[in-house]
Amino acid sequence: MAVARARFDAIVVGGGHNGLVCATLLARGGRRVLLLEAAAEIGGAARTREFAPGFRVSGAAHFLHQLPAALAGELGLDRHGLELAAAALPTTALDAAGAPLELGDLATLRSISPADADAWPGVIARFGRFARLLYHVLDAPPPRLGSGATADALALARLGLRLRLLGRRDMREFLRIIGMNAYDLVTDEFATPLLRGALAFDAVLGTNFGPRAPGTVLTFLYRLALQSAAGPAQLALPRGGMGAVAAALGRAAAAAGVSIRTAAPVARLRVGNDRVDGVVLESGEELDAGVVVSGVDPRRTFLSLLGAEHLDTGFVRRVDHFRCRGVAAKLHLALDRAPAFRGLGARAAAGRLLVAPTPDYVERAFNASKYGEWSPAPALEVSVPTLHDPSLAPAGCHVLSAIVQYAPYVAERGWATQRGPFLDAVLGVLEAHAPGLRGSVRAAELLVPEDLEREFGSGGGHWHHGDLAFDQFYLVRPVPGATQHATPMAGLYLCGAGAHPGGGVAGLAGRNAARRVLAEAAA
Ligand SMILES: Cc1cc2nc3c(=O)[nH]c(=O)nc-3n(C[C@H](O)[C@H](O)[C@H](O)COP(=O)(O)OP(=O)(O)OC[C@H]3O[C@@H](n4cnc5c(N)ncnc54)[C@H](O)[C@@H]3O)c2cc1C
Repeated sequence: MAVARARFDAIVVGGGHNGLVCATLLARGGRRVLLLEAAAEIGGAARTREFAPGFRVSGAAHFLHQLPAALAGELGLDRHGLELAAAALPTTALDAAGAPLELGDLATLRSISPADADAWPGVIARFGRFARLLYHVLDAPPPRLGSGATADALALARLGLRLRLLGRRDMREFLRIIGMNAYDLVTDEFATPLLRGALAFDAVLGTNFGPRAPGTVLTFLYRLALQSAAGPAQLALPRGGMGAVAAALGRAAAAAGVSIRTAAPVARLRVGNDRVDGVVLESGEELDAGVVVSGVDPRRTFLSLLGAEHLDTGFVRRVDHFRCRGVAAKLHLALDRAPAFRGLGARAAAGRLLVAPTPDYVERAFNASKYGEWSPAPALEVSVPTLHDPSLAPAGCHVLSAIVQYAPYVAERGWATQRGPFLDAVLGVLEAHAPGLRGSVRAAELLVPEDLEREFGSGGGHWHHGDLAFDQFYLVRPVPGATQHATPMAGLYLCGAGAHPGGGVAGLAGRNAARRVLAEAAA
């Protein structure tokens, strides 16, 4: 007698944080949900891993600063065991040739540039208003263009109204700057090189752009929008690393009734009666589902898991042209003592440190990656999490974690020979700011985008699973025909960072996708 196959209302493919959020909310919405993760552990790019014996680190994402407080509350992450080792961390811009500058330290800024100190509060408040406007765009599935549905028309009208409510001056300024590049904006607003460099780097962190690229004000405001929703604890270090966020999300999912299977890579999405009706695992096992929600990047979802034969040629072309190659690398150092960054007090040293002394420095660092080369003088975002969370390293030892830009996805001369020289260059930059650091390194690991893709299953090793650019944003993200979390294939939805609104450990793509699936079923 044939045994009936298990059937789920929804199968979520990929246990990155977005897949976990989506699965939890679907289960809370009354669906029978199965989440399938290819790796042995859930979390995707939000994972903690041991990179040298006894040394653990947040393997890709390292700061928790984009998860909206309301969503964390809705998911009950505190209740499910998420603890912060540190919150409200300061950001300090380092200068190899001079004194560092903590962002928001107006007394120090005044000693460098009284005009910048006077301007800072007003400029930051204005950026904050723009970021909050943008947050409304990020916080819900985008409306469908031309659908004729009242809900879609109202959503667009609300956006127009919110823009109008900014007031005449702000509205004009928002419209003036939103398509600009971050380089021009920060040099218009401030004179202090360190301040300009830090803000320009923030605008391009995780993107495939230099600060002179148009659209980098959008990516800057995207970052600020998520940070503004993250609440006062923003810029936090989870105790136990980013894997602690994934673990809490996993517990929330299990409590909601989600079945989670790890080490269960999906080989393909099964199509029957012109809709996705299940999945086939690499093991050959088949599972039936009412809908499948993919947290895997759009390119692999459509071209590998579904297959171009199920899609029209124009759509396949658009997916093929979706730009999704990461340029951020990740450095992990096992240190036998805490690094001594020049000019930093204990509080600043344990915070977020930036090596991006001027916007030109960041732009030059980017230039190399355009031609398949790594940056000889890269821009860095550095953290020493063990200063707050000693559990990550053996007693007395430390871990340094840094995002390194830029490292092309495909290295012209091949990563096999280029990883070593690149690591040496990054260590050289760090040594210039923390003399003696090289001598304290017990083990080092530099993960370039192709390593990040392999280790964490994130498409292209890209922070957002695909560039966050005007032609891949909001109403057209990831590509026309697959927007609003739905796809041209009935029964298939997208919930990963490649869907609206984009990446960062924010959970909004997963939350928005769940809303869309639940709304569709209710309609
Ligand atoms: C170097 C780097 C540093 C970053 N730093 C930060 C930071 O400090 N703060 C921050 O907020 N964000 C940061 N980010 C961005 C953030 O990590 C990502 O945007 C976010 O983790 C994406 O989550 P996701 O759930 O959409 O996808 P992912 O985390 O990429 O998860 C996708 C999941 O799908 C699984 N999968 C893939 N294929 C299959 C398959 N066939 N079957 C089953 N499962 C599959 C993968 O194994 C993976 O678990 C960083 C990103 C990078 C690359």
